[in-house]
Amino acid sequence: MLNDDDLNRYARQVIIPNFDENGQEKLLNTKCLIVGAGGLGCPVGLYTSAAGFGYIEIWDEDTIEITNLNRQIAHKTNKIGYNKAENLAKECLKINPNITVKFQSSNFDISKDINIFDIIFDCSDNQETKYALNYLSHKHKKILISASAVQMEGQLSVLKSGLNNTLPCYECIFPKTSEKAPITNCREAGIIGSITAFIASMQVSEAIKEIALLNYPSIAGYLILYDGFSQSLDKIKVTKKNNCLICSN
Ligand SMILES: [Zn+2]
Repeated sequence: MLNDDDLNRYARQVIIPNFDENGQEKLLNTKCLIVGAGGLGCPVGLYTSAAGFGYIEIWDEDTIEITNLNRQIAHKTNKIGYNKAENLAKECLKINPNITVKFQSSNFDISKDINIFDIIFDCSDNQETKYALNYLSHKHKKILISASAVQMEGQLSVLKSGLNNTLPCYECIFPKTSEKAPITNCREAGIIGSITAFIASMQVSEAIKEIALLNYPSIAGYLILYDGFSQSLDKIKVTKKNNCLICSN
């Protein structure tokens, strides 16, 4: 049962058709892992907190630098030098003190047991972490919401290969040997903050759909590609690879 504070705090989302109080209770009972507290992780943390996901755990070992501030929107100038995961967790709790937000000021430990989580947000900026999260999410049958953004472009996928063996995993879409693996290094390629915000916002929208709006179709099995130069959004069907090392067994 939602208490009075919850009913007020989440009033504008529980009135959405098919969401209602039951959907909000589901969000409050959902545990999220956010890997990366940068350009994607900041809006993902802030919006999952605001929406009332009940437990959020954020991992990042980096410290805030002035070059981060054009996009890592939870981090303020007076927090340069602080740990990103810790600072983001504090900002999330300022928005919503009624949820639990934890942090680890280290890079994600791939030996960590992720079984407690329902949703894994891949907000990392490197392929090694993306592949590791894909492996763990598949193995433990978790929903992985993976995204990346660079310059004026971004991409998003909802991966549920562990829950449905007809759906592709991240490695089906981006095999390790593939040349089409996305460039994710903002340091080298550059990035506009409003683009990471847009992609991160879609990550949270998909998480809300997966937990609380099950009447609507999941985008699992599709790759969403956004081009901010032309303002185009493409939804491309992606298929499972028969010989995928991660998900074909
Ligand atoms: Zn696969």
